[in-house]
Amino acid sequence: MKHHTPPTSSPLLAGIIRKIHILFIWLTRPNPQIQRPEERRQARLLLTLLTAFIVFSGVVAISLVARVALESTPLETFASQLVALLCGDILLVIAYAVARTPHYQIGALLSIVCVMVTCIVAAIGTQEPFALAFLSIGTLIGALFLTPRMTILVTIISVLITPVVKTLFLHRDWRLLSDEVIFLVGISLINLLVVTMRRADLNQIEQQSRELLDAEKRRVELIVQNERAAALRMFINNVSHDFRTPLTVINSSAYLIKHVVDQRQQQIHAIIIEEQTARLSNLIEDMIAVIRLDNPNELNLQPVDINQLAKQAAQTIVPALTSKQLALHLELADRLVPVQADRYALEIAFRELLENAAQYNRNGGSIIVQTAEAPGSIVLRITDTGIGIDEGHLPHIFDLLYRVDKARSTKTGGAGLGLPIVKKIIEAHGGTIAVESVPDQHTTFTITLPRRAAPGE
Ligand code: ADP
Repeated sequence: MKHHTPPTSSPLLAGIIRKIHILFIWLTRPNPQIQRPEERRQARLLLTLLTAFIVFSGVVAISLVARVALESTPLETFASQLVALLCGDILLVIAYAVARTPHYQIGALLSIVCVMVTCIVAAIGTQEPFALAFLSIGTLIGALFLTPRMTILVTIISVLITPVVKTLFLHRDWRLLSDEVIFLVGISLINLLVVTMRRADLNQIEQQSRELLDAEKRRVELIVQNERAAALRMFINNVSHDFRTPLTVINSSAYLIKHVVDQRQQQIHAIIIEEQTARLSNLIEDMIAVIRLDNPNELNLQPVDINQLAKQAAQTIVPALTSKQLALHLELADRLVPVQADRYALEIAFRELLENAAQYNRNGGSIIVQTAEAPGSIVLRITDTGIGIDEGHLPHIFDLLYRVDKARSTKTGGAGLGLPIVKKIIEAHGGTIAVESVPDQHTTFTITLPRRAAPGE
């Protein structure tokens, strides 16, 4: 939207008018920083009251100047009030500008202080009724923003300070105080009324906000519950399928053992049963690990030699190495500093990575296990010369139940649990895991473990 300023002959004046115009638009536009409805309402009220105060003080200033001119009253009589009014107005604009920033509360409080100070200064040296009117406005603004107790305190101080100062220091007749006390009671009653009305208003707004918040909380809870239920359904679906495949194989092998007479055939089926039961027990172990690792405090930390653990985990893939004629190279760093870790959990992680390295390798390929020391941490790298992982799958392979090739994973017994478990284990030790792969060439998993692992880090 374009704003047109009236054309003026002087460019300086035109510039000033444009600036004032921009300032005016900025001051009167709703402040986007203020989000809460009650604060938005207060900000609108603040602007209305400050505008009223400035207009009112302008009228008073004109009347004072008129008296100086018409009644030949010396200017000094009103000079302090005029200066106070001017300063008060300027300060009020500044305070309101502060109230438009994120420091809304500070700005609002500053506005009240400005009105109070202006009122008090304007009232000193005069008994004119406008001084009382100033006080009324000042305390009214206070009543809109302060707590009831603070309002009463501010009202008492601002109404009594001038007469008390006059009585004590300017030797005014103390009996005149009674007028001010009557005024004080009146203004306090008005302010109390304002406070009570505002309270009722705020309570209603608060009640509405609370109800909205409760509804939002219930909505989020419902979404979370639905997501959990969907994840559980998916988990049960996948896992039951992964259980069913080996069970079917076991069942048919058991049937064949019973019905074939050839001893060699029986032997083959017994081996198949053995393999499938091992696959089932691995699956159960993985599921238990997923649940157990949800609580990192369950880690049993102790000094662990990563080289020794890597060698131990490598033992478990010896049958796969033989059947696929894979070469295993251990390139372990000399005298590695032990890390604080859960030996059992870390062994599961290494084993999972080594099993994958064998499983997704080509016949006659190789697996390289490297360990190294880095500042404050130990690095373990497992590289295989297998099928690799496409770039598109890399960001997902640590997701629960994610499988690159479902058909192939099912055939090889993978349920998409291995890598998420490895990641959980490593992160529970405060470490990191990264993967890097070139399809049909190689895949490298790099684990970095801090020497002093803190559970839950
Ligand atoms: P799974 O139990 O199916 O192997 P993982 O979570 O261990 O599940 O692995 C997820 C997917 O990542 C697997 O389906 C597999 O395709 C891929 N993957 C894991 N490790 C390797 C690897 N060393 N080489 C190639 N692909 C791999």
